[in-house]
Amino acid sequence: MGEDRYKDWLNNRKKYKESLSADKLFERIILQDNHALSSAITLIESQSEKDKLEAFKLISLCTPKAEKSLRIGITGVPGVGKSTFIEAIGCELISSGKRVAVLSIDPSSEKTHGSILGDKTRMERLASLPNAFIRPTASGSALGGVARHTRETILLCEAAGYDVVLIETVGVGQSETMVHAMVDFFLLLMLSGAGDELQGIKRGIMEMADAIVITKSDGENQVRAKEARQTYQRALHYFPPTESAWVPTVLNYSFQDTVSIQSIISLIQKFQLHQIESGYFEINRHRQAVYWMREALLTLFDQSLTKLDESLRRDIENKVFAGEVSPFDAADKLYTLIIENTKNGK
Ligand code: GDP
Repeated sequence: MGEDRYKDWLNNRKKYKESLSADKLFERIILQDNHALSSAITLIESQSEKDKLEAFKLISLCTPKAEKSLRIGITGVPGVGKSTFIEAIGCELISSGKRVAVLSIDPSSEKTHGSILGDKTRMERLASLPNAFIRPTASGSALGGVARHTRETILLCEAAGYDVVLIETVGVGQSETMVHAMVDFFLLLMLSGAGDELQGIKRGIMEMADAIVITKSDGENQVRAKEARQTYQRALHYFPPTESAWVPTVLNYSFQDTVSIQSIISLIQKFQLHQIESGYFEINRHRQAVYWMREALLTLFDQSLTKLDESLRRDIENKVFAGEVSPFDAADKLYTLIIENTKNGK
């Protein structure tokens, strides 16, 4: 490489690095620049210590700008129709003037690197709209890490002016609980005809739902879907009432039926109004913030534990396993070691 070309290369590289600084990204994010938003999400997912500092700064800058959106969680077994539904509702919301971000969490993709999300054909129509933003959340790390990245990504999307943030997850239990704890409205999609057990839907997940939507309520399936709606609506009556006194509702839906999509949007709007009027919209967000602080603390603690000398940790675990040391004494010892390490800046 000639000297001039090398200097150009260095200059361009410097400019590129600067464009990824928290300040520069923030400037562009609030101007609703989707490229900057993508780069910012990559930054918060980075494992490098330097990037972590920038990411921290960026989140602090974005937080005051990130208040006015509606966060919706969507769950259901693979094949229930989540991506078709998100595309339908996303396009409908955009046509009514909203800006819609979609974040997808697929905890099962750890090994396959995006089993459901790598598929580029998902939500093509929605992805082509200028007021849409679609991004899978990085998987492959522990659920605690994914949770933190998703929470932070929501803030970034809100700072970028997205009014609705849809967070999709595949039903495996743990990830739903996590998503439920970061959204205002939690929607469970279900098939008619297949029992709850068959769909892997645990009672606890149904209890978390603010609404249930029976998908594919069309064609030959219509009668069964209507019956399923009644069955689930009855089942929900046996659940304890929600704190805000919202009564979870069951609706039928088909992607071919625009009216059913509009009914779901109306229901979500009704829910939002109900929560705001009852004060639970705010209360829920405040509680979630405290919950995430505790979760973050536990994650930090977990990381500190793994930083301890492995053979020492193993030795203590083996002694607990063999019944030579009580679990509580061992926990005390490990805790003391973690504190000592922290004091020594390790
Ligand atoms: P996901 O795995 O939950 O994201 O499910 P998809 O959205 O990929 O849908 C799975 C299959 O169900 C696809 O073949 C869709 O075309 C089909 N599907 C989704 N929604 C409907 C619907 O409302 N009616 C009918 N008949 N088929 C649907």
